[in-house]
Amino acid sequence: MTKYSGFNTTAVHAGQEPDPFTGAVIPPIYQTSTFVQDGINVLRAGHEYSRGSNPTRNGFEAQLAALEHGAAAFAFASGLAAEDALLRALLRPGDHIVLGGDGYGGTNRLINGLLGPWGVSNTAVDITDLAAVAAAVRPGSTALLWVETPSNPLLGIADLVGWATLAHDAGALLVVDNTFASPYLQRPLGLGADVVVHSTTKYIGGHSDVLGGAVVVADRSFRGTALAETIGYQQFAGGAVAGPQDCFLAARGLKTLGLRMERHTSNAQALAEWLRDQPGVAEVLYPGLPEHPGHALAARQMSGFGGIVSLRFSAGEAAARAFAESTRLFALSVSLGGVESLVCYCSEMTHASVRGTPLAVPTDLVRLSVGVEDLADLQEDLAAALEKTHRASRSIVALSA
Ligand SMILES: *Cc1c(COP(=O)(O)O)cnc(C)c1O
Repeated sequence: MTKYSGFNTTAVHAGQEPDPFTGAVIPPIYQTSTFVQDGINVLRAGHEYSRGSNPTRNGFEAQLAALEHGAAAFAFASGLAAEDALLRALLRPGDHIVLGGDGYGGTNRLINGLLGPWGVSNTAVDITDLAAVAAAVRPGSTALLWVETPSNPLLGIADLVGWATLAHDAGALLVVDNTFASPYLQRPLGLGADVVVHSTTKYIGGHSDVLGGAVVVADRSFRGTALAETIGYQQFAGGAVAGPQDCFLAARGLKTLGLRMERHTSNAQALAEWLRDQPGVAEVLYPGLPEHPGHALAARQMSGFGGIVSLRFSAGEAAARAFAESTRLFALSVSLGGVESLVCYCSEMTHASVRGTPLAVPTDLVRLSVGVEDLADLQEDLAAALEKTHRASRSIVALSA
């Protein structure tokens, strides 16, 4: 496969070469389960059955591997299917995971709910505290360190070089969930991570019209086998693969990732700066703000600060809930990373599974997935929702007075 130096050129062309037979500029969607053989086990282009390989899936995998600077990528039916395949391929009963505490609720549910009963334990840690990470590592039984940065929904920033050093000193691997940053803004494999996972449902697909996940591996071995071989075998033998239609949509989205991330980031930065000055807003969590505790680190390890902004309300839970139900353009919804703006009340929506635990999300917090619409329209929508929220809380104060 040809290698290109620029991100956007790679995004448009890697794994997406025109069809050699017809000249179609866009490679066709190979909507087939099986491939005809020219003799017993004589395969025309290496394809036998679409669980093992399919040209549309392989094209998307090559495109994503090139963008993450990985040795290989593997596409799955959802982000959690990718995480599940990765964890079951690498771990054995008795293994231990050091798990970034502020992360996707579903990852927590998978690791505790499904892997716990199979004898895999974990310790949740503050992702910004490397001393706490080091203290949680159990030499001999810790097999994986797992972190998301920026984190969800608190937008904490983890020092990936530091995490990688701690993992490798213990003979463990570092897995980074790169869903929030996307490879356009952050390439964890270049910072020492061994594996990147994605929910391609989010920025990579980018249009809220497809579920998918991916595992991207570095050219490294674990327990005596190359990571690409281990994950490839799991994908084939476990079978949670992404279908050709879904891979086509994810690959099409990925071509414009760079353009979209530029706009998500500039809109998010402008809204974060504006929101911080609005009455009733106690705090804006966005790594692009200079007062954010992870700002300098994010500026070093990312090439932009991303499209997710969280905010906390001085009037507490009632104000946060009222705001989340008052926007019009920002649709009240779970998920993120699409071209359209979304608003989420995380403590009861995405993170309901960790309510009442030490990992619970503050009840005064609302998360925005800032889309690519026009900034003025987005700001007008948030201003109207803030005004409505204040009117509601003033009337609550008046009633209780
Ligand atoms: C959505 C998400 C996942 C899970 O992906 P699905 O495609 O919903 O299975 C994992 N990690 C992060 C950070 C996510 O946002």
